[in-house]
Amino acid sequence: MAGFKRFLWLMLLVAESITLAAFISPNHVLAAALYTVPEIKLFTLRQKDVIAVAVEERLAGTAPDDPLAYMLEPRYRIIPGDTKTEVVLANVAATGVLQELAIPGGRLSMSVKGGCLQKIELENTGPDQIRLIARHSAGEQAKITLVKRKRYLNPDNTITFRTYIVLSVSKAAEPAPRIIVLDPGHGGDDPGATGNYLYEKDLNLDISLLARELFLQKGYDVYLTRMDDSPVELLDRADAANILGAAAFISVHNNSMPADMPEPAQRLYKGTTVLFNSAAMRPAKDLAVLMCDELVGTLRTHKYPLQDRPKLVVLNATWVPAVLAEVAMLPNPQDAKMISQRVYRLQAAEAIVNATDKYLSFRAAGPVKGKGDR
Ligand SMILES: [Zn+2]
Repeated sequence: MAGFKRFLWLMLLVAESITLAAFISPNHVLAAALYTVPEIKLFTLRQKDVIAVAVEERLAGTAPDDPLAYMLEPRYRIIPGDTKTEVVLANVAATGVLQELAIPGGRLSMSVKGGCLQKIELENTGPDQIRLIARHSAGEQAKITLVKRKRYLNPDNTITFRTYIVLSVSKAAEPAPRIIVLDPGHGGDDPGATGNYLYEKDLNLDISLLARELFLQKGYDVYLTRMDDSPVELLDRADAANILGAAAFISVHNNSMPADMPEPAQRLYKGTTVLFNSAAMRPAKDLAVLMCDELVGTLRTHKYPLQDRPKLVVLNATWVPAVLAEVAMLPNPQDAKMISQRVYRLQAAEAIVNATDKYLSFRAAGPVKGKGDR
């Protein structure tokens, strides 16, 4: 009986790989080539530090419809230790900001002010080989996962495929709190909407920083995609949510008007809306509904219908429940006056936190509790 079961299991595995192979053209099976390692991302949280090594391949060809329909399988092995964890990557060449590692014997090291990690060292230890050493206190838990990024179409018609090797180091004794990724929209040279002497990017950041404090008070761990006026690429914003396995990703914005709209018409538009993606891997319409109601109820803004926006990168490259809140309409004088005051930005932050908290408690209580919702 056991033998038969095993046979069935094997058949299932074979069937699965056949199905996978049938849907992926040879262009998108990325197994043999030398991969590049263009960057390493570090996320320091309250109870967890995370290193994500980007492993990439760029190929010509047509993009599969499914943004995740490719196989980029990094080769690596883990050497566990008491006060350090090593990951040895094979079949890779460092590029970009890690170029120093391309030379034999090349080394990079970084001290980390995280709660769990102390230092990260990287070295070129042989042809096509990079060794990562993560130093931490004794007894901390290290875990490796692989996280795919949505494939990216380059202007020269090539496609970039990227998979992260994710090493998480957390305090072993404590239960892991759920992680919220807050994404203050725009930043740097991109001010977002402007109107009534306000820059959207500044308001988004302030609301997100206020929400961060409130989430922390409620026992969540929080990561912000920017803590200052830095520019951040859209895929990098989505990466944070995916790499950290966030319970929710919340992009914080304030709305503008189409530029060609005459000014008198612009002044009529006002209020709050929340965007979601019904085609997402983990659609979050329920969260959008709760958040819009909570924002409108707290700020007393005009309520706009929710918007289903499958083409927005932050909503279609995130594998966790994701929404984008448009808190107020900046060209509208009343909305602008309201959101220019910090007391209302604090209220907006409270609404965002309360809605997310409600959403996550419903999910935890209901039958649809997801595997990734830690
Ligand atoms: Zn915006």
